[in-house]
Amino acid sequence: MDKHASIPVFVPHYACPHGCVFCDQKKISGVQRPPEDLEEYLSSAAEGLDKKFTSADIAFFGGSFTGIEEPLMRHYLAAAAAVRKKYPKITGIRLSTRPDFINGHILDVLGEYGVTTIELGAQSMDDTVLLASERGHTAKDTETAAKMIKSRGFSLVLQTMTGLPGDSREKDVYTARKIAELAPEAVRIYPCVVLKGTKLEKAMISGGYTPQSVEEAVEICADLIDFYEKNGIKVIRAGLHSSDLAKNGSVAAGAFHPAFGEMCQSELIYRKLREKIIKNGVFSGVFCIAAKESDVSKTVGQKRKNIRRLEDEFDIKIKIAYIKESER
Ligand code: SF4
Repeated sequence: MDKHASIPVFVPHYACPHGCVFCDQKKISGVQRPPEDLEEYLSSAAEGLDKKFTSADIAFFGGSFTGIEEPLMRHYLAAAAAVRKKYPKITGIRLSTRPDFINGHILDVLGEYGVTTIELGAQSMDDTVLLASERGHTAKDTETAAKMIKSRGFSLVLQTMTGLPGDSREKDVYTARKIAELAPEAVRIYPCVVLKGTKLEKAMISGGYTPQSVEEAVEICADLIDFYEKNGIKVIRAGLHSSDLAKNGSVAAGAFHPAFGEMCQSELIYRKLREKIIKNGVFSGVFCIAAKESDVSKTVGQKRKNIRRLEDEFDIKIKIAYIKESER
């Protein structure tokens, strides 16, 4: 099976002029910088790629890449393009940015260096949510940028958030519908996490903002994953990377859980099993579920949550039959 890898390059948020309420610029700016000799770093990463990976992307992440000054942006892109030329396994260059940092000239520059994928931080398609989150751009900006990106032949990935100030389940569903209309190749869904020292934390302390719980976020994100998948849009991530967020104690509240993505998958499995039980009219006795070894923990749920819910609701006994991957 073809396996694809990512070679990450962290780009700091050089003096971002914005002040999104959930962002702590002090923590994210200037902490890490791309290595001095980026080309050498990328070459050695390409050479060190595990044999199981048949292809890889160079991925600039961590900021609004196209917001950095053009000479520096070109310097980073030139290093990535040179390494891509040398190593056939490197098949793409991807980056993430803000919708209002996209225009015709920027796309010309990205095209010059062979950028393949652009990720846009849309966050919400509801202008009241964007305003309350102090994003500094509108839903229309996202629409315009997404259309330009696609018309120039780049792959488009859209990032959205749930649980922002002024947000609701209805608005998240509305956002998902608007995002699907833009036909991205994939999406990432990040439930809002309250970081210490942010405006959002202040709002929470003063009672002006109620953070989403992990449970609420799992329910909403499971709805969204289901929606995107039914519309042929891949969900490449649900939930923040556990990275250092939990370790360095920067999370004050909100929907942060290191296994968030798996919890959403588990919720979707629970919904499917529930439907099956109802469809088959199994309201007593034993209900046997066959699950691949790799899916067993998602099927059972955290602390056997799925099994408990189904057994309580239907007064049945659930039995799991393990299927070895090789038997499939
Ligand atoms: S655009 Fe918002 S989230 Fe990104 S660095 Fe600036 S303030 Fe932070």
